[in-house]
Amino acid sequence: MTVQGRLFILSGPSGSGKSTLMRRLLENMPGLAFSVSHTTRKPRPGEEDGVHYHFTETAAFLALRDQQPSGFLEWAEVHGNLYGTGVVEVEKRLQQGMDILLDIDVQGARQVQERRNDAISIFLCPPSLDALARRLRRRATEKEESYALRLENARKELTCAPEYTYLLVNDQLETAVEGFRSIIIAERLRQRRNPDGSPVQMVW
Ligand code: ADP
Ligand code: 5GP
Repeated sequence: MTVQGRLFILSGPSGSGKSTLMRRLLENMPGLAFSVSHTTRKPRPGEEDGVHYHFTETAAFLALRDQQPSGFLEWAEVHGNLYGTGVVEVEKRLQQGMDILLDIDVQGARQVQERRNDAISIFLCPPSLDALARRLRRRATEKEESYALRLENARKELTCAPEYTYLLVNDQLETAVEGFRSIIIAERLRQRRNPDGSPVQMVW
């Protein structure tokens, strides 16, 4: 019998370092896979369809959302674009025993927690709003009006940090990567419980 994989949620303001941390972690964390979201946002230079996102036209996104049952585990409008997690791919890989990492915003995280209360949530925050603004500028991927919107949204998103199981501050990158890795390892060592509280039976 294969034990189901664990579902990890990573949220944090745009520019807090989610992509950087995930890239570092996924390089040498076997058994952990990134869930590629659908988005109506246009690709940034260097972003590949099917790797970073499934870049989707709005009509196709809405058709998937309105399927019965919905094609999305969760979806939300973020910074003026639509984003969603395809349910089939996630469920299939969890059944196969893979641990899955979702990079989703605070609205999506709430929806996932409602459907799966065993999801493990991690909130990534920058050391300060000034540092966040500098990092976003240095990344230089946004149109001018999008910086202001992302910073304004960051203030709101940071107030949601207490909803998450873990809080990770991305000051020194190496320390944050180590913290992230430690969370995954500790969660993998946690005893799995049945809904009645009894431990999941081990097969020796
Ligand atoms: P997100 O995916 O959360 O939007 P990114 O991973 O793209 O954020 O990071 C935003 C920018 O900040 C990138 O240019 C990245 O190289 C940089 N960055 C990430 N972590 C750190 C850190 N600890 N110190 C300095 N710069 C960082
Ligand atoms: P970006 O456009 O910078 O790649 O992502 C913007 C925001 O959208 C980030 O907060 C990111 O976590 C969020 N996001 C990415 N994919 C999804 C998704 O599938 N669902 C939700 N709800 N948010 C997502």
